[in-house]
Amino acid sequence: MKSVHIFVPATIANLSCGFDVLGACLDTIGDEMKISLTDTSEIRITKIEGAKLPYDVDKNVAGVAVMALLKAYKKKIGVDIEIYKNIKAGSGIGSSAASSAGAVWGVNYLLGNPFSILELVAFAMEGEKLASGNAHADNVAPALFGGFTLVRSYAPLDIISLPVPKELIATVIHPQIEVKTADARAVIKQNVSLQKAIQQWGNIGGLVSGLFMNDYDLISRSLEDVIIEPLRSILIPSFNEVKNMANKSGALGCGISGSGPSIFTLNKGMKTAKKVADAMENEYQKTGLDFDIHISKINTTGIKIIKN
Ligand code: ADP
Repeated sequence: MKSVHIFVPATIANLSCGFDVLGACLDTIGDEMKISLTDTSEIRITKIEGAKLPYDVDKNVAGVAVMALLKAYKKKIGVDIEIYKNIKAGSGIGSSAASSAGAVWGVNYLLGNPFSILELVAFAMEGEKLASGNAHADNVAPALFGGFTLVRSYAPLDIISLPVPKELIATVIHPQIEVKTADARAVIKQNVSLQKAIQQWGNIGGLVSGLFMNDYDLISRSLEDVIIEPLRSILIPSFNEVKNMANKSGALGCGISGSGPSIFTLNKGMKTAKKVADAMENEYQKTGLDFDIHISKINTTGIKIIKN
């Protein structure tokens, strides 16, 4: 029985201005998975630790993503999946995406990489569709490609890997409340004014340029979301206060991670990132809610093998 044990990273989707198109891969937060090929010709979730999630392959994003891959592979093979969760479901740092991406990456690796990373993104998106009703790629793309990714187009799927300025460090605060992606999608509007759209696409262009040019000031000016954040931030206790404190402490920018409730910042250098994390923590203590806080480099590799 061939098997691989992998680390599957958490991810920050949207990055303020890039709703459903931009994402970043984290380094210090993630799940572990063990994927094995078997001769049962069945997909099975054999172990889940760290979270209460369905073992039924039709209801677990890992099972659904592997089904999509095997449909394209066309040969009958069996797959056993073990999931060790550290990323809580509904945290906004790509919990479902990690399971979808890890499962298809592991199976592809064991089969000798018949599929490209872009094809794996498409299979993993089937898992995202199960989790949130929408086959978005802004978490699965950075988990699979690593670094920063831009989904330029969904049809056809076109994903661009963006450069990672060396000194960029992310912080993430995760209040222990659950905001379901489906609920966070329900509060947003389907129409956008032209004035806001102009501001938003200016910022996306600015952020992408800033990453290419290593221009931290430009990155900072561009980390602004005038469309989604004003509507979604009401679901996150003390969002504005935390953002204020993070910005005062020197963060390049602060926004909602994915659909929340996690809040992220990007910073230049570890020293500033630690100062910002402390400020966010101090502010959040006032809410009386439990929370986790993470400081992480941007992970340029994506999924990593722990043991072959
Ligand atoms: P996040 O924003 O952290 O990715 P989501 O809200 O997108 O979280 O996804 C979590 C939802 O997906 C939950 O309803 C959860 O039950 C469901 N789900 C199904 N399988 C998994 C899995 N393997 N890992 C995480 N969530 C899963």
